[in-house]
Amino acid sequence: MIVCKFGGTSVGDAAAIERTADIVRGRLARQPVVVVSALAGTTNALLEIASQTSGGQFIVAIRGIEALRARHLAVAEELLGTGPDAHEVAAELSMLFDELAHLGEALTVLGDVSPRSLDAVAAYGERLSSPIVAAAFAQRGIPATWVDARTVMVTDKAHGRARPQPDAIAERAREHLLPLVRAGRVPVLGGYIGATREGVTTTLGRGGSDYSAALVGAALDCEGIEIWTDVDGMLTADPRVIPGAGLIAHIRFDEAAELASFGAKVLHPSTIAPAVQRNIPVFIYNSHRPQAAGTRITFDAPRREVRAIAGRANVVLVNVKSSAMLGTPGVVRGIFSVFERFKLSVDVIATSEVSVSVTLDADLHLEDVLNELRTFGDVTVERGRGIVAVVGSGLGGHTPTMARALSALGELRVHMCSLSASAINLTLIVDGDQVHEAMRRLHRAFFEEDA
Ligand code: ASP
Ligand code: MG
Repeated sequence: MIVCKFGGTSVGDAAAIERTADIVRGRLARQPVVVVSALAGTTNALLEIASQTSGGQFIVAIRGIEALRARHLAVAEELLGTGPDAHEVAAELSMLFDELAHLGEALTVLGDVSPRSLDAVAAYGERLSSPIVAAAFAQRGIPATWVDARTVMVTDKAHGRARPQPDAIAERAREHLLPLVRAGRVPVLGGYIGATREGVTTTLGRGGSDYSAALVGAALDCEGIEIWTDVDGMLTADPRVIPGAGLIAHIRFDEAAELASFGAKVLHPSTIAPAVQRNIPVFIYNSHRPQAAGTRITFDAPRREVRAIAGRANVVLVNVKSSAMLGTPGVVRGIFSVFERFKLSVDVIATSEVSVSVTLDADLHLEDVLNELRTFGDVTVERGRGIVAVVGSGLGGHTPTMARALSALGELRVHMCSLSASAINLTLIVDGDQVHEAMRRLHRAFFEEDA
């Protein structure tokens, strides 16, 4: 059994859904369970509609709903033609859109959208896309059965970012999905949405369909999870900075997480954690180029000294320096409790006996934080810095690699450097305007020279 998850661009229009059907047809022997996102752009449009209703712009909101109605009906018609199946789906879509319009009206009267109502509105994206995809599959010879994701994906009540309940999901998946798969059917369900035990609709947070796929895969103990998107996989660097960046064939989960923290947008590893922790491999594939190799993410992978180069500008370096730290336990804890109180996440840390240096996102408002830090010692702030990371799980303690990284930087100034004992990355703080140049030099040294 495998889970195939198709993102918004893989179900964005009739042609994309057609390709998706071909992909699934080619995998029937592996007993796929299909998880789909909303048609590309729909979730954004729905959230916009919700905010328009609460802002009293009912006419604008209704126009938005009608545009979505027309788009969904057009896609359904293009895929299904005009036979009886097509009528059934069109009727169902129309009913959902009527409901959505009523909901919009009610929210306009209330003049306020609660997180619960926002989830109810946002959930229409996947509630609409999944029956279209299921019907299109069925018409193309795939024995698809639509399943309401809300009967499987049990969550708590934290609307907007509801937390899934894995035990309940496993139970529901065995009850609602497994018998279908055993009977040779292909369940098709929407990602991103769920419901509380009481049946109130919830969502898992933006981009939550990957999370749904991982949860279903973990619940059914699948052999693999395929995330179908519109890029070939994870790359050795951001291709906007390094056009020659190459595909990473196999990456460890912790390395992927590290890259995501640098804004690698392919997928957020925390969303696939439920699968990876159970040793279920996750594959990223391009639905526009299904023959491409893709990237495999697993808990473990052969260690490689350097797997990728990442970077980010717009970083502030904060140094706290005090001789009082010398031999005094608890100072570091005190300093970090300040960050905790202000709910600031620190990226890179380096310490010496008398100083602690950390980096923070430059967009944060830091005045109050700095004032509190001053109770621990002299505080200096270096703005306009950037982070460059050499990511690779085999890096720890491998001196030649570290030497190569530093020498690749040549005369570029390094303000701080961090390598943890369980190192999966060597992190260098450079001038913000040199981040791209540093990335290019490092990429050249590790991937373009003799590699
Ligand atoms: N449709 C949802 C979103 O756009 C969930 C997803 O696509 O993962 O956030
Ligand atoms: Mg998406």
